[in-house]
Amino acid sequence: MTSVIIPRSEHSVSRQNIHPDALKVMYRLVRKGFTAYLVGGGVRDLLLGRTPKDFDVSTNATPSQIKKIFQNYFLIGRRFRLAHIRFDDHVIETSTFRRCPDQEEENGDEDLYMLRDNCYGTPEEDALRRDFTINGLFYEVERFSIIDHVGGLSDIENRLIRCIGDPNIRFREDPVRMIRAVRFAARLDFHIEPATYNAIMRHHEEILKASPPRVFEELQKLFAYGSGEKAVRLLYKTGLLHNLLPEIADFLDHDHGQDSILWTWLEHLDRRIRTVGKVEPVLVFAALFSAPVRHIAARYEADGERVVYNAMLEDLLQPICVRMSMPKWMCSRMIQIMANQTRFEPDKKKRFSKRGFVAHECFPETLALYQLGLLVSGADLGPAEMWGSLRSEMEAENPQVLRTDPRGQQGRPPRKRPPRRRRR
Ligand code: ATP
Ligand code: MG
Repeated sequence: MTSVIIPRSEHSVSRQNIHPDALKVMYRLVRKGFTAYLVGGGVRDLLLGRTPKDFDVSTNATPSQIKKIFQNYFLIGRRFRLAHIRFDDHVIETSTFRRCPDQEEENGDEDLYMLRDNCYGTPEEDALRRDFTINGLFYEVERFSIIDHVGGLSDIENRLIRCIGDPNIRFREDPVRMIRAVRFAARLDFHIEPATYNAIMRHHEEILKASPPRVFEELQKLFAYGSGEKAVRLLYKTGLLHNLLPEIADFLDHDHGQDSILWTWLEHLDRRIRTVGKVEPVLVFAALFSAPVRHIAARYEADGERVVYNAMLEDLLQPICVRMSMPKWMCSRMIQIMANQTRFEPDKKKRFSKRGFVAHECFPETLALYQLGLLVSGADLGPAEMWGSLRSEMEAENPQVLRTDPRGQQGRPPRKRPPRRRRR
């Protein structure tokens, strides 16, 4: 692949759309005699006319050289050291150019998975170690040009996700890239080019070798931007879903595959994410599991068995959450909001405090899942609105009464203080 430099007059990236702090970092590095480029998703998104989520910088300055230039600098990462240059409300991630290990550093095909990009390299090598051509472009601030070592520009024009290098090797080196390919294809509405797609079909089982917390993080990201339905359809088509969430894949196999009711759940979930502008991870997984769980409950009931919903949810979902490395608090909360659904049609024989239910801190998520369920079944939204108004009335009467969510945006519980040590 020949490298190309595209001058400012021939591309659409304007400095005005780059965060001033990212520009500050690059200009300061350049003034000190180093090379510094804007890299990765930032350049891709700017070329597509989207607002980048974050701005990453790569440079030939080493971490210790970066440290001398920036006081607001923090080193992170044990395996590969990255610099976080902190500003008031955000961080510019600044990494030193690095490369894939050489052939002689490889110790056989079996160990491909262990190979990681752990050595410093040239800018071109840094582009080549990245995952997809659309993520391998550089923007340089001195002449405002774009540097393309990997053919990323033409793939952006043709809306293609293509691995840099041989996809059969790149996916085995790091199987999480397969989920990333699906994520970018769904979110940007791109196609995965045939060689990359076939490699996913061939190697999807390798995903089982990846670290579960990393996989879980990528799974959550699939739903950002409201493109979860397309992403899960792609996971299913490529076989990845059978490895990642075999229970969901089995449900789809038995529920008309690409025409399953699950897609209606995900379609409404996507709409909600686009409307509220944020992903609520607990709600995402509750929505994903609702159709299979309801299907199983209906099957038991059809067989004349009495379903204890809470116990069934625990039995079915807890092992899946553990396998996926879902944090414990998230798993319990997901099960709770799913179990709470029976409260919307309470058993008349049992005593039940409506106001206590509505005041509960996880009521908003419980109600959101109820609304999704009504939308999926095409039912009247009136009952959900009634419950929503009750919550608003109680809020207006006395906000203190409501047990509000102390967990902040991510729904994460506050850290418990460690128990005090007893004096001996
Ligand atoms: P997003 O907008 O979702 O943040 P992104 O492209 O910026 O997308 P990041 O996960 O933030 O994705 O990663 C930043 C860059 O690092 C990518 O654009 C890519 O060049 C590189 N990268 C990330 N993960 C990998 C990986 N597993 N293998 C190779 N390169 C990677
Ligand atoms: Mg990014």
